[in-house]
Amino acid sequence: MRLLLVLLILLELLHSDINLIKQENSDSNTTLLVIGGIHGDEPGGYFAASLLASHYKITSKNLWIVPNLNQDSVIANKRGINGDMNRKFASIKSKDKDKKIVDDIKKIILEKNISLILNLHDGHGFYREKYQSTVFNPNAWGQTCVIDQCKLKEDQEFGNLNEIASIVRENLNKKLLQKHHSFAVKNTNTKFDDEAMQLSLTYYAVTNNKPAFALESSKNLSTLAEKVFYQLLAIEEFMKIMDITYIRNFEFTQKGIAQILQDYGTLKINGNILLNFSDIKKSLSYIPLKSKSNDFTFTHPLGQVKKSNGDFVVYIGNKHITTLKPQYFKMSQNCPNKLGLVIDGESTFIQKASAFYVNDDFKVSKAKNLRVNIIGYRKKGILQESDIDINLENLSHKFSLDNANKVYRIEFYKNDEFCSMSMVHFK
Ligand SMILES: [Zn+2]
Repeated sequence: MRLLLVLLILLELLHSDINLIKQENSDSNTTLLVIGGIHGDEPGGYFAASLLASHYKITSKNLWIVPNLNQDSVIANKRGINGDMNRKFASIKSKDKDKKIVDDIKKIILEKNISLILNLHDGHGFYREKYQSTVFNPNAWGQTCVIDQCKLKEDQEFGNLNEIASIVRENLNKKLLQKHHSFAVKNTNTKFDDEAMQLSLTYYAVTNNKPAFALESSKNLSTLAEKVFYQLLAIEEFMKIMDITYIRNFEFTQKGIAQILQDYGTLKINGNILLNFSDIKKSLSYIPLKSKSNDFTFTHPLGQVKKSNGDFVVYIGNKHITTLKPQYFKMSQNCPNKLGLVIDGESTFIQKASAFYVNDDFKVSKAKNLRVNIIGYRKKGILQESDIDINLENLSHKFSLDNANKVYRIEFYKNDEFCSMSMVHFK
């Protein structure tokens, strides 16, 4: 009994709700930790963290990313569904629903290799030293690099917070999209002046002698791409200061960022269904799922599924992508991994749960004991839909996966059990 208890506790410790993405090079212990999504309604921060994870490759030192710390609040697009998570780092009640996440991120912050921490936010307005208006004033947080104090201990690497933040500000201000977006360093003098900030993540780090900064883009910037642009610009400046080299695979302009923000990637379910999110319909019916323990694997770091009224609601960050209405099946255990097809007259094979592209028509080759169901194809008297030439006109728009009505599902079954789903794209 005692052994079982120990095991259960161990399992509990191993299980973490935090999505920690690591890019590591063996040559160094220097590690930058970037945290997005402590506040669920600040998408500039968490989409920047996500693009950093998916579109940058670190070629020296290390980068750890938690793209969406407060995942449930991100989905809800609320600051904090259980209150403000960034006010729970000095103490937290044992019953607080955020306790596990706060405890876990504290442990990560204190890990020996962590050299510097960035906590990403979208703040109100544009910070100015003197009051100009409700948007431009000293109480605004937007477009600032926030520090709790000027310095850490004398010998602490990256401990001169004010100097580092000032370098970042100088370099950012050379690359502004518009003049009024200018950046400032905001020192909250937390220890003496700011009781609320004494409860924050960065102050917890700083009091444990870990260099930490909050990066705030502005909620008053007009597009998500602009917010992400400034966050990434600032993160790149920090990487330069830390000697972290990197390559990125997109054009670093507002337009280039807007473009990759549109790419929501794909979702694989239970290893046997592939869905591409580009232009996907807001609701899809009769998706063959298991009655419990479905495995959802996203290519996008902010992908999440929330069960609601029997449906599976799919999100990328705070954006609702689609809702899957399930039809529950038993999963067949001995299905083929490869499926035979004739695409535009040429015989070929595809892997299960993959996509293929067609100019004019295709047919699924007959396979023993495998029933083929091309969703949206209906012809009287036909139950088995293999070995039939299918073109776009044969398919009913009602059953397409996408709004342009060019992508359809092909499902494979063995007896009454589900095997896999592939996608056909008509060009
Ligand atoms: Zn915030």
